Amino acid sequence: MEVKRAASAGFCFGVKRAIELALQARAENTGRIFTLGPLIHNPQVVRLLAEKGIEVIQDLAAAAEGTLVIRSHGVEPEVLAAAQELGLKVVDATCPFVKRAQELARDLTEQGYTVVVVGDREHPEVRGIVGWTGGRAQVVEGPEEAARLPLLPRVGVIAQTTQPLDNFEAVVAVLRRRLVKEGEAPSELRVFSTICHATAERQQAARELAAQVDVMVVVGGYDSANTRKLAAICRESGTPTYHIETADQLKSEWFAGARVAGLTAGASTPDWIIEEVERRMKELAENAQEEMQMADFRTLRGGEIVKGVVVAIDQ
Ligand code: SF4
Repeated sequence: MEVKRAASAGFCFGVKRAIELALQARAENTGRIFTLGPLIHNPQVVRLLAEKGIEVIQDLAAAAEGTLVIRSHGVEPEVLAAAQELGLKVVDATCPFVKRAQELARDLTEQGYTVVVVGDREHPEVRGIVGWTGGRAQVVEGPEEAARLPLLPRVGVIAQTTQPLDNFEAVVAVLRRRLVKEGEAPSELRVFSTICHATAERQQAARELAAQVDVMVVVGGYDSANTRKLAAICRESGTPTYHIETADQLKSEWFAGARVAGLTAGASTPDWIIEEVERRMKELAENAQEEMQMADFRTLRGGEIVKGVVVAIDQ
C-alpha cells in the first residue's frame, strides 16, 4: 500500500513560531513560564512542553511571578494589562495574522465603524479580537445571522483567520445587499479578508487527496477545530476517514484491501507525530498484506500450513 501525504499538512507558521518563542523563553528565563490555556490544541505537544517546565494555567490569578507566553490565538488587551499589573514578563506569541485582525478591529472601531467579525464567537481568537474593540464588535457565524444583524450605516467586516472563504463571502454579500437596500446615507461597508491561507491550503490539499485515495487518516488533537474540519472535509468526499491523535490508535483493518492511503494533519500537529503515523501505516499495511497472503495460502492448502512454503510465499 502506498501512503500519500497531503501537499500541505501539519504545523502552520503561527503555531511553529509560538512553540519556538515558548522554548526560547524557557531557555532564557529561570523562573516560571506559563501559558493561559494550552499553547496549542495538541495534547502530546503540551505534555512535552510541560516536561520542559512550560506550564498551563487557566487563570492569571494563579501566576504571582514569572513569564506569560501569549498563545498564537492572541488575547484581549485586558489580559495584557492584567499581566502587566501583576508584574509578569510577557512574551507575545500572537500570530502576526491574528495581530493584523486585532489591529484592524481596533482601528475601525476608533474610526467610528461597527466591526463585524465573521467567526466562531466561542473561539479564543474571536474573543480576543472583540476585546480589541472594547467589546463593541458584533460576531456573526454565517449569512443567516448577518441577515438579522441590527443595521448600522458604517460597517467594517473582518474574519476569524481560520474562516472558510465561502462563508466570509456569503456574509459580505448579505451585508452589501442590506446596506444598498436598507442603508441610511451615507452607508459604507469596508471589507478586510483576514483569512489565513495556511488553513485554506490545508483544506484544499486534504480535499484533493481524499478524492484520490481508498482511505484517509487525519492526525491532530481531538480539541483542534482545524483538524476536525479537515476530517469533515475528507468524509464529505465519501472516502472512509479516521481522525487520530497518535500512531498507536491506528488499526490494521482500516487498510485491508486499500491500495493507496492518504495522510493529512492539522495545523497544530508536529512533524514527528506525522512521521510516526506514516511509518506505522506502512507497517500495518504490510501486516495486512501478509495476513491476506496467509489466508489465501490456507485456502489453497485446505487449512494446512507448511512453514517453509509460507516463507516462499512471503518472498
Ligand atoms: Fe497564524 Fe494562520 Fe496558523 Fe492561525 S492558522 S496561527 S493565523 S498561521
